[in-house]
This record gives sequence, C-alpha cells and structure tokens, in this order.
Amino acid sequence: MSENLRSWVTGFPRIGERRELKKVLESYWRGEESFEGVKKVSDELKTRHWSYQKGAGIDAISINDFSLYDQTLDMVETLGLVPDRFKDIEDSVERYFAMARGDANHTAMEMTKWFNTNYHYIVPELKSGMGFKIDISKIVEEYKAAKELGVTPKVNIIGPLTFLANARRVDGADEDAVTLFGEIITAYAELFKELSALDERVILQVEEPVLVTQRAAELSLLTKEAYMKLCEVSNTLEVFVVTYFDHATEAVKQLVQTPIKGIGLDFVYGEKNFEVLDEISKSGKALVAGVVDGRNIWISDIEKRLELLDRVAKIVPKERIVLSTSCSLLHVPYTLGYEKKLDEKIKSWLAFGVEKLDELSLLCKLFFEGADSLSAKEALLYAKNREDNASRRESKLIHDENVQKRMANIEPLKRKRVDFKKRIAEQHEKFGYEPLCTTTIGSFPQTPEVRGVRRDYKMGVISESEYVEKMKGFIKECVKIQEDIGLEVLVHGEFERNDMVEYFGEQLNGVAFSENGWVQSYGSRCVKPPIIYGDVSRPEPMTLFWSSYAQSLTKKPMKGMLTGPVTILNWSFVRDDQPKSETCFQIALAIRDEVDDLQRAGIKMIQVDEAAFKEGYPLRVSDRAYYEKFALESFWIATGVAEDDTQIHTHMCYSDFNDIIDTIEAMDADVISIETARSGNTLLRVFKEHGYKKEIGPGVYDIHSPRVPSVEELQRQIEALLEVLPARQLWINPDCGLKTRRWEEVVPSLTNMVEAVKRVRASL
Ligand code: GLN
Ligand code: ZN
Repeated sequence: MSENLRSWVTGFPRIGERRELKKVLESYWRGEESFEGVKKVSDELKTRHWSYQKGAGIDAISINDFSLYDQTLDMVETLGLVPDRFKDIEDSVERYFAMARGDANHTAMEMTKWFNTNYHYIVPELKSGMGFKIDISKIVEEYKAAKELGVTPKVNIIGPLTFLANARRVDGADEDAVTLFGEIITAYAELFKELSALDERVILQVEEPVLVTQRAAELSLLTKEAYMKLCEVSNTLEVFVVTYFDHATEAVKQLVQTPIKGIGLDFVYGEKNFEVLDEISKSGKALVAGVVDGRNIWISDIEKRLELLDRVAKIVPKERIVLSTSCSLLHVPYTLGYEKKLDEKIKSWLAFGVEKLDELSLLCKLFFEGADSLSAKEALLYAKNREDNASRRESKLIHDENVQKRMANIEPLKRKRVDFKKRIAEQHEKFGYEPLCTTTIGSFPQTPEVRGVRRDYKMGVISESEYVEKMKGFIKECVKIQEDIGLEVLVHGEFERNDMVEYFGEQLNGVAFSENGWVQSYGSRCVKPPIIYGDVSRPEPMTLFWSSYAQSLTKKPMKGMLTGPVTILNWSFVRDDQPKSETCFQIALAIRDEVDDLQRAGIKMIQVDEAAFKEGYPLRVSDRAYYEKFALESFWIATGVAEDDTQIHTHMCYSDFNDIIDTIEAMDADVISIETARSGNTLLRVFKEHGYKKEIGPGVYDIHSPRVPSVEELQRQIEALLEVLPARQLWINPDCGLKTRRWEEVVPSLTNMVEAVKRVRASL
C-alpha cells in the first residue's frame, strides 16, 4: 500500500485565485504578452497550489491537474491525437490554442459540458487507424518541479474509458468512439509505460467519471479489460482509478478483479457506494474516500463526516483508506480570503478550495489519530466547525417564516394551466399576431456604453436617477429600432442585466454574492455563481419597472423577460441543508409573483427562460424522475398564475431534445424558442414526431457568429421549417439573445429576417 499516504485532493483549480491565468492568457491571445510570460505565471501558480496543499498537510499532491486550457485537450496532446486539420501548424503552442479556440484558418474543436458540471471540456476527435505518439514532457516537468518542492506527487490523468466516451468519431463511421477501445488502450499502455519510468514508485490517479453515469453498465466488461491490460505494463505504477459525481457500483465490481492499487469513490454524491465496500475490502484494494464536497461551498459537518468514515472503516480497514475530496476542487472558488463584503455569518458557513484543504486535513487527523491528537489550533478549528454548523441549522438569516408558510400551502400551485386549445385561441384573439410571428429572444447588444453606465452606477459614480434615465434611453432606442425593422413582438433589451441569473439573484432574499468566487467555466472564462444560502423570497418587483416603461413606448406586445427557477437553481451554489426541490419551489414562488405583477400591469406576453433546464439532468436515468418532477412543478408554480390570455414563452438554448421531449411538452409553455440554426431541421422533427402541439420559434440564424445571413438564406431556412410544421405553429426568431453581438450585425440580420418572413408569407 502507498505507505503513510492518508490524504490527497482529486485536483486543484488552476485559473488562479486572482484569475492570474485568465489575465495572462488573454493578453497573450491579444498579442500583448509573450508565451514566456504565460509560462512564468503558470509555473508560479503550480508552485503556489502545491504549496497550499503541502502547507495544509495533504500527503500526496496532484500534478498534471494544471492546464493552459483544458485537461482533456492536454490528454489529446499527451497521446498525440491531434486532429489532422491542425497538423499544418508547426508551432506546438500555436497549435494547442488553435485546437482550443480556432484561428483564421482552423475551426476550433467542439466543446461541451463535463458531466453535470458547468465546466466545459474540448471533445477529442478520433478515427480508426489514427495512430498515436506519446509525449509526457509536460508531466515530466511538473513531476520534477513538485519533487524539488519536497512533495510526493500524484499524477492525474483522464482515464481511457472517460476519454473515449467523451470523444467523437470523425471518420464518418456512424459509431460511438468507444468502438476505438482497442486502439486507445494500446496508446494508454504506452503512456503508462512511460509514466512508470518517472520514479521508483509512481502514484497515478486515473480519473474515470464516466463510470458513474448511465453508461457504466454497458462499459463494465471494457472496464475490466482496460485495467487488466494497463496494469500489465509495469509494477512500479500504483494505479488508482478514481470516480466522482455519483456512485460507481457497477464499475467497482469489475475493478476489484484487476491489479489496480485502489479505487476512488464519491461519498458526498454517491451514498450508494456503501453497497460495494465489502467487495473492495475483500479485494485488498485501497479506498480513496471522497468525503469533502468538491462541488459545493458549504463547510463540512466534520462530525457527520467522521461518523460516515467510521461506517466505512467498519468494512474497509483504516490503513487502506485515503481521505479525499468528492471530486476535483476545480468546481469551487479558491479562497474566502478575498471576501470582504460577504456577511460574516454567511461566510462562516462557507468553505472554498483552500478552506477545504484544512477541512480535509482536520478530518484526517481526527479519523486516523483521534481527537486527542489535535493541536490547540486544530482543536479550535474543530470547535468552530461545530459552532458554525449549529448556527447554520438555526440562523434567522436562513429560516424565513413567511416563506415557510407559503411552502406549506404549495401543493395546489404545482399544477399545469388548463386547456392549451382554449388558451391559445384567447391569445390569438387578444394579440392578433399572424403565423410566423417575428420576435427576438430578449437581449440586445451590450455595448461598452451600456456596460459603462451599469458600472458607473454600481460604483456610485452616477446617481440612481441618472442611471434610470440612461437605461430608459437605451430601452427607448431599442424599441424604436425594433419598430423600424418591423418586428412584431418586442422586447426591452435587458440592458440593466449583467447576467440572466445574477440580475435576479441580486434582488432575491436568501441569495448572496461573493466578490471573488470565480469558477472556471471553459478556457479562460470564469463564472461567479450566486450562493443560495437561505429561504428565497422576493422583497419587491424585479423587472416590472423596466418592462412597464418599455410597454408604454409601443402598441405592439412587449414580452416580459424572466429567468426561470430551474435555471437560477442550476447556475447557483445551492444550499445542501434541504432538498434541492424545496429551494427550487421557493425560487419559483418569487418568479410567480413577478409573472403576476407583470400581467396585472398589462404585460401579457411573458418569457420565462430556462436556458439551463437540461443541464440539471442527473447522470443516471434512475434519478431522472425526481429531477423532472420538481423541475416541471417549479415551472408550473412560476407560470401557473398566468391568466388564459397571458401568453407564456420559454427559451432553451441547445439542440438536443430527443430524450427530454415529453418533459418539454409537459412544461406547457404556450411558445418555446429553441436553438436550431446550427442543427438544421433534425431538431424540429423531434417535435413533429412527438406531435408537439404548442407554438415553437426555432432559431433561424446562429447568433454565435458575426455573419449577417442573407434574405434568401433565411427564406430557405423558413421554408424548410414549413416542411415540418404548419405556419400557425411557428414563430420566427434568432436562436438566442443578441447581447454578445454588435448593432452593426444585429440590425441587418433582423431586417433580413423580417423581409424573409414577408416573402414567405406572400407565398403561403
Ligand atoms: N433572454 C436571454 C437573452 O436574450 C436568454 C439568454 C440565454 O438563453 N442564455 O439573453
Ligand atoms: Zn439562449
């Protein structure tokens, strides 16, 4: 066994606690910084992060968790699987960033969500007979540097099954990339061989999160075969196959039959892992127990964690247990150290990355050596942890009686509106819009001027009344432009919003914001998720003022614009002291009040965006029902207050509805706008085949590109839509909000869209 190794973290974030990596990368991309500059910052960050771990008393330190862009892309490089289309780029740095971001002559590789997190990885492109060429120079360099720092390195790599499952085939074969198993294992075997030469004994953490997903069962034979083969390569490698985000019970049954050294399991999101502990125990393998939450930001309840560990230790002998985080700390911010404005009480309930290292280390001491072994400082930490957890259980900041009262009577609100046919007839009557009604998704360009006004207001440079006047100016101009273009259903433009979730979060009770709680989303991009710490309520209307003003400027219908409860939930750090569903219902009540206020003020078309509805889907089909039920009920709570002649819209920006179409239908929105521009009509067919009866606005052009689509092109696109669905069911709009575009692109694009609709209508 890895003598005297008792703790490690699955991985550490890399963007830098002051987003140093982001900053240096972006200036390098702008041509203002040399690559040496990037290298220097990277090296400093690595050293700092290793030192943090070492300083906290963590036994083995993750290396190769650092990346200039993404770890999966790094694996592509390490295995030498660079797609052919980038092979003309000789400079390796240039090539790496071209794969990640594209350049003038190369389209970037695809990017997609890393399991059910908000992190996005680069999708490997594989083909049969691709060949490989192992290059471990980056790992060698880090290994040496870590050793010089006097720590025990643990090499992190993404496992072959996860790599394959997350890849796509580009050789035209209509098959899953997993069919390339044989080729990939040959490459990994070579990789393992080279890694084994790093040292007399090398700790290798092979990450296989795919083994917690729905695919685990199907992959189980390959799981065994992979690790049988890979362990043959060398006996100086200590291979730990680490899983996270859910239970890995199927895979464990296979892994125990292979010569790997240990198995990593998530005990925060995978309680079911208890069921296979017996097998791990019998197999003599080590257990890496993920007990500190790597995905959420609440302090651990150390006492409860110890109880859990004691239950584990009844099955697996203590000396074979390594304590760890539930997953990489990549998914939480760095440190509370920079939080000066956060309420002190709320802060005492939080642990970011650095604080989690201390928790892990304290747990380790308590679990392996007992409470008597604690130093005075550790004893204080332990006492504080108990106090903080107790205060969190009881605090008035969290528990709001009024919200509780409403929640006690929530059942009748979890209901669909009645009779779509009747509703839509009333809505047609009321609004009188024609088939192929033109509209947009909500936001209009966020120019430097718009951002500047918001910033000035936030910093106190301009007064509230100045701010309001300026915002009104933007709205007025936006409404005028839409009228001039001839759009039929208008929006106010969302100029007052920095972000569709933050805007609402800031106005809700029970939600806090950090100053520096950045989490990497992809590449150099970070997000700062709101922190839902307590019962949620809406002290006053959030959008009514702006929407009413916008409506007063026009006779055309003005869409009210709200973010849906499920999206607010999925893009926030959510409290873990009550079921997610409860939190979601509370948010839904707040949105419901807003819907009602809007309709009372005569805003009778209201869009409730659920951009992240799909993101929240669990990794396993068996957990879906729970999610779908509360997600649907939340949407119904939020929108069910609408009168029959109030038209509810929703928007979702992705193009894969195949397996959730029943749920989408059940949401019962009168109109849904979706992203189809990049996926052709395949998506629409799903709706057609399903017999979807409500109205749909399939995006007719891609707003992610600055290109202005021509009238002819848009006309063809609309005609293609009409082959699938009747005009009466269709709306015409871009495929997402226009906030990232410039007016110079937006105006001609929308003008062409309206013209295309005119031409199509004339031919109907
Ligand atoms: N209404 C939002 C906008 O137009 C929707 C954004 C989104 O779907 N992500 O920006
Ligand atoms: Zn969108």
